[in-house]
Amino acid sequence: MTEWSVRLQEFVDSIAASVAVVAADQSRQLIVPACNRNFFEMTGGRPLGSHEFPIEFDALVPSYARREFRDKLHECFNSGIAQEFEQAYDLKDGTHWWRLSLKPFRHTEGGDAVLEILITGLDITPKMELTHQLQVSTSRFRSVVDAAYDAIITIDQEHNVTLFNRAAENLFGYDASEMIGQPLLRLIPEPYRSRHDGYVHQFARSPVKSRQMNERIRIHGLHHDGSLVPVEIAISKINVDGLLEFTAIIRDIADQVRLMDLLQKQAVTDQLTGLPNRREFLEVTDNCLGSSEDLSVLMLDIDHFKVVNDTYGHDAGDEVLSVLAKIGTAVTSKVGVFARWGGEEFVVALPNTRLDQARAIAEQLRLTIANQDFKHDWHTGKPIPFTVSIGVATRTAGEADTATILKRADEALYKAKEGGRNRVMS
Ligand code: GH3
Ligand code: MG
Ligand code: MG
Repeated sequence: MTEWSVRLQEFVDSIAASVAVVAADQSRQLIVPACNRNFFEMTGGRPLGSHEFPIEFDALVPSYARREFRDKLHECFNSGIAQEFEQAYDLKDGTHWWRLSLKPFRHTEGGDAVLEILITGLDITPKMELTHQLQVSTSRFRSVVDAAYDAIITIDQEHNVTLFNRAAENLFGYDASEMIGQPLLRLIPEPYRSRHDGYVHQFARSPVKSRQMNERIRIHGLHHDGSLVPVEIAISKINVDGLLEFTAIIRDIADQVRLMDLLQKQAVTDQLTGLPNRREFLEVTDNCLGSSEDLSVLMLDIDHFKVVNDTYGHDAGDEVLSVLAKIGTAVTSKVGVFARWGGEEFVVALPNTRLDQARAIAEQLRLTIANQDFKHDWHTGKPIPFTVSIGVATRTAGEADTATILKRADEALYKAKEGGRNRVMS
């Protein structure tokens, strides 16, 4: 061992990093004249005494890391330029990451100029573990956000979109790439745009960190195709390095809205005929009676309906009710509301209609039915003849109660029945 090597060995052993010197012998084999304890620890080798140097490079580095390491060393020898790279070493206590830098240096030995390489390694395992953990938590966050059933949209201080998850893509019909960096206003229907900025500013100042947007009015988003999407929105804000970010969780409630509309309609609709029911009829007449306008009412009952049922069967009876509903609606739709009162009794509310006009409408109805003056493909194969009796009543000045008008219509209907049926009485 030369004096130079001994001095080198003492020097490298005192450094906390892993250090080694690599030289090339006459046959260009890589040899290590000196390395420190940390270098052995790095590669997982057994530390040698200083008298055992120089050793072969290959004996020092495990086979799986050797090729890359050797390539870098040759590159460094050939180019004379420093190299840097990272390597993982699998030791008993797990994987360790090292950042290795190779620096060529020249010195003279016995009058000859010699080129050697100084290797220094820093243990970057803690940093790599942190990076890995960050990657894991970032990808976990991304998966949760993308798997979310609800649309999630984040905007920055300028109200530009910074996050747009998969559910948001489905809900609004945009790709995330089309929306990132774009103003959020693109997703808000025109009439609400002017108010939106103020709303966000107010929320920014409020001490509340998250809240549901107005629950009582229906909120809509603007789809790419221009249609309105009913939504429910919860918003929250996060302070990121002094800048406020807003996140909205948006739920598509189109199905609920459809269901609610359906339930609402069912509540005021007669199932068999699809006509407005008694509740809907009273709603209409009550609205009329709230004002000073004219109102007439028809009460209509099928003549000898029991006979229809008995002769043709209950299903045919149902068909007659449906046919009557169609005719009644067709004749009165422009002037009033044709509703099923119950059983084979129907009522018609005729706003802004005087008694003589109401009588004319009733007469038209009666004749259309009696003459079978309509087209219908009967399930029974041949038409079922039927007639109706109609009672007509009209509101007296200032009268404010539907029940009393209906009572007069009912009395008129009774007279029509008594008078021989298939007639209109008032
Ligand atoms: P009138 O000329 O005096 O009115 O005689 P009517 O037979 O029509 O009167 P009545 O009140 O005696 O009979 C009404 C019948 O209507 C009895 C009932 O079974 C039938 N009915 C009530 N609701 C329905 C229904 O939804 N479908 C069917 N098919 N029949 C019904
Ligand atoms: Mg009846
Ligand atoms: Mg009847």
